[in-house]
Amino acid sequence: MTAGTILIVFSLFFVYAYDIYDFGFTPDPMSDEVEVVISDSLDIAAASDSSVFVNGTILPNEGISNSLLALDGIKMDHVLEITTSLKPYVDFRFLAAGEEITVEMDQNKELVKSFCYKPNPVITHKLTRNIDGALEYELVSLPTEKRQRLLRGQISTTLNQALFDNHIEPSVAAEINGMLECIVNFRSDARKGDRYSVFLEESYFEGKKLKGGKVLLASFEGKRTGYKVAYLYTDPERNSAFNAHYTKKGEALINAGLRLPVDRVHVTSPYGYRIHPVTRSRTFHYGVDYRGRIGEPVYTVADGTVIYSGYDGLNGNKVVIKHKDKTQTFYLHLNKRLVKNGQKVKARQRIATIGNTGRSTGPHLHFSIRDPKGKWANPMNKRMIATQKLEGERYARFINQMDEIDDMIREYIAKERKLTEYTLFHLGSDKFNTREIEIRPN
Ligand SMILES: [Zn+2]
Repeated sequence: MTAGTILIVFSLFFVYAYDIYDFGFTPDPMSDEVEVVISDSLDIAAASDSSVFVNGTILPNEGISNSLLALDGIKMDHVLEITTSLKPYVDFRFLAAGEEITVEMDQNKELVKSFCYKPNPVITHKLTRNIDGALEYELVSLPTEKRQRLLRGQISTTLNQALFDNHIEPSVAAEINGMLECIVNFRSDARKGDRYSVFLEESYFEGKKLKGGKVLLASFEGKRTGYKVAYLYTDPERNSAFNAHYTKKGEALINAGLRLPVDRVHVTSPYGYRIHPVTRSRTFHYGVDYRGRIGEPVYTVADGTVIYSGYDGLNGNKVVIKHKDKTQTFYLHLNKRLVKNGQKVKARQRIATIGNTGRSTGPHLHFSIRDPKGKWANPMNKRMIATQKLEGERYARFINQMDEIDDMIREYIAKERKLTEYTLFHLGSDKFNTREIEIRPN
């Protein structure tokens, strides 16, 4: 059976799961938490007559400012007041074309009375003029139903194809890919027939699925890799930087694309013993050489702090970055260094350009990793640098959350099994009837 068929079978069960009420099973809607509901403040129609409502949407390829300016009667002053008041609460980079915006103005269209930004049918970011005259922020969310979905399959073609076949939207698929790539070295360790599972939580409003979804778990079980898994950690703080995926030990994963220090991967000299190109003696090469052209960008592989940025005759221009888990990464033979000692850097930040400085025979980046204990590690095997670790209270909470997710999966599978038995019983009896007709002697 191919991954495709397995996935189709499971997605069919998912559809059935919401028809089970007819079959006499105890309905157990998978919805849980319900968020704050403040519905009357949203009732725009009921607002006083002295207001004028201007409706619009986020325009394609435009930010919030231009989308607002395009509305009738909205001036730059209004835009500035709205964006300044909203900025601490909404990340403007994630606005999408077509999302609704509404401005309530006074009759003369001089003062903004309120503003609503509605990224989806259940969430409204609202600003309302308070008695002090300031625009006050409020998040209004309608209750949604949470449903889970378990995708399981074998690696036969590509993971992407399997996710696409299951109608997983690109942003969620990219997240799943990133997670799995962090826990498994696909290029060297994935084998045909290896299995993966993804446990998703999706929100529904009035029976319709909302955009996006949470990946609660992604796991991989392979001949070479053994069982690898990552879980979602949810911090009580909504916007906490700790909200991310972690291994069972509480080590954070970093996204796939962020690990590479260069744009084009062309390894000219791997980690390990080699005949040194300059000295011609057999030496151990404590890093990976990536061929490149002078001036091409060099990126950090994870968040960290620059602990060295300087020049010496052997390494040429050199940058060393220390990451949160005390791993250090080394970038040598650089043409230009773009960071200073002590500077904090973000994953995938441009820190230098490829060069040919120091003892080097041609333009390349020498990249090394030293693990937290100070030992050199093979960068090709290093799947992740823990950008952060869950510790203390957070780790205790994470352990509980992992248990909860495991329980949810167990419950999901049990439900699925009941349905399988039910379906088999019915299909079986159908077949039985058919066979009876067929074997009727004539
Ligand atoms: Zn090298």
